[in-house]
Amino acid sequence: MKSFDELHLSQPLIRSISNMGFEEATPIQELAIPLAMEGRDLIGQAQTGTGKTAAFGIPLVERFTADSEQIQGIVITPTRELAVQVAEELNKLGQFKGIRTLPIYGGQDINRQLKALQKRPQIIVGTPGRLMDHMRRKTIRLHQIKMVVLDEADEMLNMGFIEDIEAILQEIPEERQTLLFSATMPKPIQALAQRFMKNPEMINIRAKELTVAAIEQTYMEVQEKQKFDVLCRLLDIQSPDLAIVFCRTKRRVDELSEALNKRGYSAEGIHGDLTQSRRDSVLRQFKEGTIEVLVATDVAARGLDISGVTHVYNFDIPQDPEGYVHRTGRTGRAGKTGLAITFVTPREMDHLKFIEYVTKRRMVRKPVPTITEAIEGQQRLAMERLLRVVEEEDLLQYRGLAEDLLEETDSVTLLAAALKMLTKEPDTTPVELTEEAPLRGKRAKNFKFQQRGHRRETSHKGATRGGRNSRW
Ligand code: ADP
Ligand code: MG
Repeated sequence: MKSFDELHLSQPLIRSISNMGFEEATPIQELAIPLAMEGRDLIGQAQTGTGKTAAFGIPLVERFTADSEQIQGIVITPTRELAVQVAEELNKLGQFKGIRTLPIYGGQDINRQLKALQKRPQIIVGTPGRLMDHMRRKTIRLHQIKMVVLDEADEMLNMGFIEDIEAILQEIPEERQTLLFSATMPKPIQALAQRFMKNPEMINIRAKELTVAAIEQTYMEVQEKQKFDVLCRLLDIQSPDLAIVFCRTKRRVDELSEALNKRGYSAEGIHGDLTQSRRDSVLRQFKEGTIEVLVATDVAARGLDISGVTHVYNFDIPQDPEGYVHRTGRTGRAGKTGLAITFVTPREMDHLKFIEYVTKRRMVRKPVPTITEAIEGQQRLAMERLLRVVEEEDLLQYRGLAEDLLEETDSVTLLAAALKMLTKEPDTTPVELTEEAPLRGKRAKNFKFQQRGHRRETSHKGATRGGRNSRW
C-alpha cells in the first residue's frame, strides 16, 4: 500500500490525514484518489469498511478553495446518520484547508439548516429527500457544483431513492465530475451510471482486503427459543467492549433491548421509528461506551462507522448476503480484528449456506456455550478486576481491616467470598420475546451447493481496474 505522501496531496491535506491517524492509503483510496484528482468520473465498488469516504473525501477537499462562497461539491447518502458521519470525516479532512462541509437531512429543523447554510459551506452532504426540498425552495443552488458523489448507491436504490437522485442529477451542470460508490452493482445502478456519468473508470476491490479478513466469522445452530439465553451467555463469556446485535424487525429490537436491560446489560435499541434526536443520542452513548450493546435493524445500522465495535451478533440471520456483508462490516473496521457470530435455527441452515456461497466466505461452526462456561467467564472477569486493584490501587487503608478479618476466617474463604461478590452470576429474570418465523430463503431452496469447495477461491491481490473502454 502507498503512503499518502506518494499521492501528491497538498500540505494541509497531508496534515489532516496524519492527524486522523491514517498512515497508508487503503486499496480503494490508492486507486481512486489519483483518478478523481485528474477529473475522471469514477465508479468504486468495495466492501464496507474499506475507506470509501476518504477515497472521495480527499479529492473533494483538494479540489476546492476556502475563499469560495459557493456550494461546489455535493455528496448524496441514503441515511441521516451516514450524512452526519460523512460530513464529520470531510470536516476533519478539510480542517487545515478551511473547507467547510454541512450535513443536510430530514428531521432536522429547517431554519437551523438555513442558518448553517449562510456560513457558506463548500460541500454539502445530504439525503435525497431533504436535498430535493432545498432545491425546490431554492435555498440550495446547484449551478456551481463541480463534483457530485453518490455514496452507498445500492442502498439508495433499495430505499427507493433512485428517482430523487435522477431529479437531483438533472439539475446539476453537465460539466461536473461524478463519483459513485457502492458495495454491489445491481442493474439499475449500472443504468444510472450509464445515463449520468461520462466514460467512468471502474475500480473494483475484490473481497477480503481490509476488514473482512480481520473478522472471525462463526455461526451457531440455535433453536429460536434458546437464542436469548445463548446471547446472554456469549456476552458473559466474551464481555465485548462494544457489541452490536442485529435483529430482523423493529419490534424485535425493542423487545430484545428491553430484555437485555432486565438481565442487567446496558443495551439500547436503534431503528427507523425512533426520532432523530433519540437515534443521535443512542449513537453518541454507544460511541462513548456508556451503553455496551447496541441492538439494531439493518437499515438503522447500515453505513455507520462506529469504531471499536468488537463483536457483531446476528441474533436473526440476515435476509440476504448483502445484508450479511453490511452487518459484519460493522466490526473489524480499518484493520482491527472483530468477531461475528450468526445464530441460525435448524430450518435456516440452507439459507446460511446460500449466504456463504454468495459471499464466498466460510463461517466456522461453533458449539453453543454452556451455562458453566458463562459463569467461568464472569468469574474470570471478577478475578481480573481484583488483580487490577491489587496492582494499581493504594490499599493501605484496607490492610488493617483485612488483618482483622483474617483472625476469624481463613484467607481462601475470604477471597472466595470477595470473588463471589464481584461476579455477575447468571440472571434468570424472565423475559418476553415474540418468536420470529424461520427465514426460508427463496433462492436457497433450488440452490446447488456441490461446487462449493471449488468455487471458494477469491482473487489474490485485490484490485482490478477497468480500462477506459471497460464494459460492465
Ligand atoms: P466504507 O465507506 O468503505 O464503509 P469508511 O470510509 O467508513 O469505509 O472507513 C472505515 C473506517 O476506516 C473509518 O473509521 C475510517 O476513518 C477508517 N479509515 C479510512 N481510511 C483509512 C486509512 N487509510 N487508514 C486507516 N484508517 C482508515
Ligand atoms: Mg461508506
